[in-house]
Amino acid sequence: MIKDFLKSIYWEILSYFVPERQSYEVTGKCIKCGKCCKNIYSAYMYSEQEFEFMKKIFPSYRRFYIKRRDEKGNFIFGCQYLKNNLCSVYEKRPRLCRSYPQKRLAIYSKMPDGCGYKVEKKSFNEYLQNIK
Ligand code: SF4
Ligand code: SF4
Repeated sequence: MIKDFLKSIYWEILSYFVPERQSYEVTGKCIKCGKCCKNIYSAYMYSEQEFEFMKKIFPSYRRFYIKRRDEKGNFIFGCQYLKNNLCSVYEKRPRLCRSYPQKRLAIYSKMPDGCGYKVEKKSFNEYLQNIK
């Protein structure tokens, strides 16, 4: 179990320094459907004990609760601060929420169906065009 805890801390720290494996172009805007806060996916969380441990060291995680697992066994979380599809702590929402949808991700994830944002992978040629 200690190994899992150490692994989760490692992933958490790493998430603050995400390597530029893939960049995305984000267009559109939020239409306030609340879907992204209803089903928050995690590719780094392995067990319930681990989640409890993470809540102790990262208090902002206490707002999340486990809803179920996806087909790969990763947890899907809900948030207790979602009220009528809106964030009830919008001005104080954590970094994770502020940066959504992220423009750089190590692991690909899909936007919820009907989301007002459009997120598309940038091609290698686009990278080259931006190099002066
Ligand atoms: S799913 Fe997209 S449109 Fe809906 S609340 Fe989240 S960011 Fe906004
Ligand atoms: S804190 Fe607000 S923005 Fe973040 S998941 Fe909860 S309801 Fe959504």
